[in-house]
Amino acid sequence: MKIIKTQAKEIYTKTKLPGCDYVLNQYVSCQHACTYCYAKFICKWKKYGKFGTWVEAKINAPELVKAKIIKGDIFMSSMSDPYQPVEKELELTKKILENLNKDARLSILTKSDLVLRDINLLKQFKNLEVGFTINDFEGKTKDLMEPFAPNYKLRLEALKKLSKIGIKTYVFVSPIIPGLINLKKIIDSTKNYTDHYWFEFMNLRGAGPEFVKMMEKEYPNSLKILKDKKLMDNYIQECVNIIKQSKIKYAGIEQHNK
Ligand code: SF4
Repeated sequence: MKIIKTQAKEIYTKTKLPGCDYVLNQYVSCQHACTYCYAKFICKWKKYGKFGTWVEAKINAPELVKAKIIKGDIFMSSMSDPYQPVEKELELTKKILENLNKDARLSILTKSDLVLRDINLLKQFKNLEVGFTINDFEGKTKDLMEPFAPNYKLRLEALKKLSKIGIKTYVFVSPIIPGLINLKKIIDSTKNYTDHYWFEFMNLRGAGPEFVKMMEKEYPNSLKILKDKKLMDNYIQECVNIIKQSKIKYAGIEQHNK
């Protein structure tokens, strides 16, 4: 794993992502190396090798957040997981939380229970939420989709711990793939521990040709539905029915089925 330490000029980037005004990426690229990750597009500009085999770490990020107060909703992070393994050593996320204004409107999204390390810092924020990407990939499917991310049981335990001590949490159910995700099971196992949900169906385009090739070989039936607008519309409708019947609060459903 290549770790490239850099000095950034700016740490906040204006964004059109739903639910936020700025993204904060102290890391670029991600050791979790999820094969469906849309952030791999960055490899067109950063020539360090395959996505997930390198991480750029903006080592002055903690100083940059100290120097600038942001009005608006901040999302951490869009190009990496703020609690990927290198964070254990570099502690950039931890130092950012130490330096950030505690009134900041901050949303953290992770797949890692390492976030529990920072509970005492998280508790100091007045407008903070922590989201966990939760799906129920296991065994071979987990290895093919999210080879180096903590498994969903660890994420679920971390979600429960944060929720029980009063930290606002949300669950990001993604990527929803026909035949590979049990949506009802995910909702039932999380609904007592989350304030709200976001849902995202598989973004095949963002995942790229290598991922599509893997799907062709391993999950041809799922891929057939993903590639057929009508079949996908039906599948989405089934999922929306499950979501509505569950009477949960949700902020958005990203369909990627244009
Ligand atoms: S954890 Fe998130 S940012 Fe990291 S590889 Fe997986 S999807 Fe991409």
